[in-house]
Amino acid sequence: MLRIRNVQKSFGDFQAVIKANLDVEQGEIVAVIGPNGAGKSTLFKLISGYLAPDNGSIIFQDREIAGLAPYRICRLGLGMSFQIVNVFDRLTVFENVQVSVLSHLRRAFDLVTPAGRVAVEQTMEILESVYLANVKDRVSGSLSHGERKALEIAIALGTNPELLILDEPTAGMSPDETFSTIHLLEKLNVSFGLTILFCEHDMELVFSFANRIMVMQQGLSIIQGPPEEVRNNQQVKEAYLGGTR
Ligand code: ADP
Ligand code: MG
Repeated sequence: MLRIRNVQKSFGDFQAVIKANLDVEQGEIVAVIGPNGAGKSTLFKLISGYLAPDNGSIIFQDREIAGLAPYRICRLGLGMSFQIVNVFDRLTVFENVQVSVLSHLRRAFDLVTPAGRVAVEQTMEILESVYLANVKDRVSGSLSHGERKALEIAIALGTNPELLILDEPTAGMSPDETFSTIHLLEKLNVSFGLTILFCEHDMELVFSFANRIMVMQQGLSIIQGPPEEVRNNQQVKEAYLGGTR
């Protein structure tokens, strides 16, 4: 589904991503792990089009997407949720997801139908899938951190992605919130067949959850494989003992 080869990105003289390789097959849950500053967020922005790589290739479902605009990549079926929560605080939970569904249907400028009645069914379906239906009329600014993260995932689902990529979906969460988020992602994978790529700096969290793990360190992808293989890799042990740069 996704094939990344020798991707590179510099900011001025600083090489944030020196050489990254990554494969994601349809239906998988793949984790990118690595210490802070390893280049994970930069890599995810390169995949979703928020940054353009200096070099390398990013193939999504047989199409080269490196350097395409984010909205074009999104329309191809690649949804992105950011490390920093990104919702419209003054809209309700329902409206936040509805806006996303409408943008995908390109119905935002329909002058005949009142906006409140459009895409209600799809929006409710998504809210139910992320367990937010019961708070649908709350103003988004009043949600807990865990609920906001779930809403962000719901917003990404509004664009009907086949591959969902998430930058640290459990950042800043309590253990309970982390557990429910992981449970939610597993459900989206199993019940809806959504392929999931996420990154995370907490190594332990991903081992029970991901089918495959790629480890990044100082801008390089150093290994990719099943959890057991990665856990026992000498370079990985050193990367984690070595801390951040
Ligand atoms: P991670 O998500 O793994 O913590 P990032 O991709 O955010 O790492 O950052 C990798 C490195 O690139 C860091 O040293 C960071 O300071 C640097 N970096 C990220 N974005 C920019 C930018 N826009 N300009 C300059 N340096 C950046
Ligand atoms: Mg990051």
